Amino acid sequence: MAAVLMTGAEPAARIRAEVARDVRELGHVGLATVLVGDDPASHRAAIEAGIASYDERLADNAPQEELFDVLDRLNADDGVDGILVQLPIPDDVDEGRVLSSVDPKKDVDGFNPFSAGQLYLGHPTFVPATPAGIMVLLDEHGVEIEGRHAVVVGRSQIVGKPIAQLLLARNATVTICHSRTPDLGAVTREADILVAGVGRAHLVTAAMVKEGAAVVDVGITRTDEGLVGDVHPDVAEVASHLTPVPGGVGPMTIALLLRNTVLAARYRRGLLAFP
Ligand code: NAP
Repeated sequence: MAAVLMTGAEPAARIRAEVARDVRELGHVGLATVLVGDDPASHRAAIEAGIASYDERLADNAPQEELFDVLDRLNADDGVDGILVQLPIPDDVDEGRVLSSVDPKKDVDGFNPFSAGQLYLGHPTFVPATPAGIMVLLDEHGVEIEGRHAVVVGRSQIVGKPIAQLLLARNATVTICHSRTPDLGAVTREADILVAGVGRAHLVTAAMVKEGAAVVDVGITRTDEGLVGDVHPDVAEVASHLTPVPGGVGPMTIALLLRNTVLAARYRRGLLAFP
């Protein structure tokens, strides 16, 4: 059996077109990207969708107070609906304090403790873009979630924990694995839906996947041969559905980030009640 490839280009383009239409309706939507380093793809995509892009660049060696001053200024700026802080931030900067310093109404990344708490409580405001994109891909391909066993490999705040919450909210039975899970394959073989968000090339082999499982490969490892996922290509012979790397989850992440920016604009204009 060759798995159906769950590619992200088409749904991502559709969501980006919806975002562009919503931005035209709203008049002005602003997204600030705070960068300690390079230009992310999200910056270009925001401009394409008609979102006003505010680009804040800090030198690698900038003192951390400079970053907090920038965040204070962006929080107070009425033209800025969403704030995106590019991660990972340098080691000597307090990441928890950075994420807490973003106004929860502008937290389009969904990494602020308020946003994470709302997701945990089942009343999400901003869902982190990568897991939100995974849910769209699964729905797009008619992958049944309720009552099925979902195994998530990885427990980061960005991927593992939020996708586990989203699957749980849709009534999957969820197991979370991590680096201390003994015999990972024994657990992943039980999965009807398997999400790998680790960052170790080809960690998940065909022998670790149940026949007919839907497999989502979030991992990205740069190799001499290009970008490689956590899932070995042979898994396509066993799985019913598989996201390719690149071209699966990646494009969805950017699209859902832009959708969150429109959501922020709606919250801030009182078009939607913010909890
Ligand atoms: P992370 O913070 O480094 O988390 C990795 C997780 O994998 C940790 O929970 C870790 O366990 C677990 N892990 C490490 N080795 C393992 C092993 N041998 N067996 C089982 N679990 C293991 O990474 P992240 O930010 O979640 O990102 C994960 C991957 O997704 C990366 O490749 C990243 O580039 C990619 N990513 C892609 C997108 C996209 O849009 N496509 C978006 C975000 C991230 P412990 O907690 O025990 O250390």
